[in-house]
Amino acid sequence: MNKNNTENNAKVNVIAIDGPAGSGKSTIAKLLAKRLGLNYIDTGATYRAITLLALKNNVDLDNEKEILKLAKDAKIEIDSNPKDEQSYTKVILNGEDVTEEIRSNLVGSAVSIVSKLPGIRKFLVNFQRSLANKGASVLEGRDIGTVVFPNAVLKVFLTAKNEERVKRRLLQESKKNLDADFNKIKKEIETRDKIDSTRKDSPLKIAEDAIIIDSTNLTIEETFEKIKDIYLKKINSKN
Ligand code: C5P
Repeated sequence: MNKNNTENNAKVNVIAIDGPAGSGKSTIAKLLAKRLGLNYIDTGATYRAITLLALKNNVDLDNEKEILKLAKDAKIEIDSNPKDEQSYTKVILNGEDVTEEIRSNLVGSAVSIVSKLPGIRKFLVNFQRSLANKGASVLEGRDIGTVVFPNAVLKVFLTAKNEERVKRRLLQESKKNLDADFNKIKKEIETRDKIDSTRKDSPLKIAEDAIIIDSTNLTIEETFEKIKDIYLKKINSKN
């Protein structure tokens, strides 16, 4: 989608939520989807699934050609109906449930390298758009408002102070991993954010027309209410 064209285009019924790791995007996007009856599209899960595919096939993480070939041959099923706001998005990769595996540290530290590859991004952006074409949707990621849906009816850049983001991840991780460690998580988040914000293709950045919400001192419910109110106003006033 060309930016100049889309600026004149009608808005689409999409909520775009972008922001750094641990900012609460997933929780809020799932709540919005459940309570407002929207499809939920976890675009990070698509990058994680392709990264897992590369790792499983022992392909170098910068080998765009081989990874793209694997991606094109793969069947990726992403659940767009979250069970609740705490559960991870269910992902089936070539018939295998990889919901937990794509959240491993191994995938976490490799995913930003694969996400830099323009060919992979192009392929996955098309896939993400096709998922969203099924109806009104909320998408979360890094480039939703800038690249995937520049004509989204509402764009939110969700953020929180670094320390708070690490704490939230630690809480989430420690439920399933007793060895979860603050400093390790801090390092992973910082490294990922740095690569995601400085890559050439579709870096994490604030869309010009995005609403910035810092959730450091907000509860989940407060953040949800804020976004819901703005969204309902937007769709009721026909933009
Ligand atoms: O959202 P999540 O933390 O699961 O995303 C994992 C990674 O996938 C990000 O750190 C980023 O490298 C990549 N990603 C991306 N563009 C998106 C969503 C995720 O590059 N729209």
